[in-house]
Amino acid sequence: MKIYQALVGGQWKVSSSERFLPSYNPYNQEEWAQIPLLTNEEISEAVECAHRSFKEWKNMSGLDRATLLHRLSDLIEEHADYLAEIESTDNGKVIRETKNQILFTARNYRYFAGYADKLLGEAIPLDNRELLDYTIMEPIGVVALITAWNSPLPLLANKLAPALATGNTVVIKPSEHASISTLEFARLIEKAGFPAGVVNVVTGDGKAGDALIRHPLVGKVSFTGGTQTAQVISRAVSEKLIPITLELGGKSPNIIFEDADIDEAVIGAVAGIFGASGQTCIAGSRLLVQRSILEIVKQALVEKTNKIKLGNPLDSETEMGPVANINQFNKIIGMIEEAKNQGAILLCGGKSSENSNLKGFYIEPTIFYTENPKVNIACEEVFGPVLTILPFDSVEEAIHLANDSVYGLAAGIWTRDIKKAHRLAQQIEAGTVWINTYRTSQVGTPFGGIKQSGFGRERSWHTLYEYTHMKNIMVNLSDNKRDPFSMQTK
Ligand code: NAP
Repeated sequence: MKIYQALVGGQWKVSSSERFLPSYNPYNQEEWAQIPLLTNEEISEAVECAHRSFKEWKNMSGLDRATLLHRLSDLIEEHADYLAEIESTDNGKVIRETKNQILFTARNYRYFAGYADKLLGEAIPLDNRELLDYTIMEPIGVVALITAWNSPLPLLANKLAPALATGNTVVIKPSEHASISTLEFARLIEKAGFPAGVVNVVTGDGKAGDALIRHPLVGKVSFTGGTQTAQVISRAVSEKLIPITLELGGKSPNIIFEDADIDEAVIGAVAGIFGASGQTCIAGSRLLVQRSILEIVKQALVEKTNKIKLGNPLDSETEMGPVANINQFNKIIGMIEEAKNQGAILLCGGKSSENSNLKGFYIEPTIFYTENPKVNIACEEVFGPVLTILPFDSVEEAIHLANDSVYGLAAGIWTRDIKKAHRLAQQIEAGTVWINTYRTSQVGTPFGGIKQSGFGRERSWHTLYEYTHMKNIMVNLSDNKRDPFSMQTK
């Protein structure tokens, strides 16, 4: 079993309390590693280190920051197989997905490396020609980055790449359920040659995260996780009045119209809900199907779902791994039972796996059908391999059902009618709308939610503004004396 250390100010350390948290492999339920449970003092030390390193990092040329970020991307690519294996061992995601995601992670750092020396301000022409005015983008300072367990490294890249490119220093707190890949990744940060203290990784449970975000020297929080935790964090951060980015959960509608390519739409529905065992914020967990094609879609979907290959996440043939931890397993099984009690019709799955070779937290890919959009399984985030199918008759009803949610993260539309697709895309309340595709990501596109799915954007150049202040600088070029008792507006 491996015992890991946290990275604080360039030093690897265990906790002075000598306490550790276990990390379990969800495939076999065995403890395979331990992470230090840092004390509040040690978390504070990490923030202070980041604060001390801020001046050097922010004043480094954009080109030098870019060079380091490119070097980091090279190292991630070089170590992609290893990092993917670690990620799959820690959270049970299938290796065919984690390998892909690690390369996507490298791409993300490369994307923002390209911006590190292009943080442009603008010269603003004013009414008064004797005033010179321009803006500059300035880093915020120490940023706390808190990530969820479902995709630790890709989620981190969404935050860390723009934070570093724009000149911030950071303290990262990964989830206690999957911290190992972040700690292994931190070794690459060191190897790439980032100055000590620019990137710090602290480990522990939710209390460690709480101590981090409350620290007076933390100037911004970027959080990926559940809506309830986000509410707790928002309350704490509101005392300090610092900016916050929240990437939260969803109950995303995936809408299939009768004029869709049904084969493609069914594959899209499977990708939307059974990719990553449904443990993805963008899971297309509500499948809205036009009534005229309901039976065909149900049948095709159940047929495909029953063939999904559950197995060892490290086997490249495996299509669905276990869910990531015991809490998640119990929650999902509980929601399946509740759905049955509330009258949702079980079309397939609905149990933990009966394959006796699989000892981990396996749940069969599960599909419910209901005409009642108010049953819990149709409105609450499961964060597991459970799909709910709901029928609709008209476009208006599809829009109403799609928007009848507290969440607004993503949505999918399947139709051959391109005009209808674009009209609908504009009316759907979500941060991302996919047309004739689902769960397709690119680093250049802004990603984030509305409503209880959070606010702020990740990936894309827009994210540069999440990690900078815009400063306006005005210069008087005139020799005229002004009236000191009246604001100068001309
Ligand atoms: P979570 O329980 O909210 O935890 C998220 C992170 O917050 C973990 O690192 C957790 O640490 C930490 N944390 C817990 N309490 C805290 C506190 N009081 N102060 C500061 N940090 C605290 O969420 P999760 O179960 O890990 O992740 C699942 C959720 O994340 C789902 O709702 C999913 O939809 C959402 N998600 C959203 C996105 C997106 O981009 N929109 C992406 C992925 C996941 P511990 O784990 O150590 O307690």
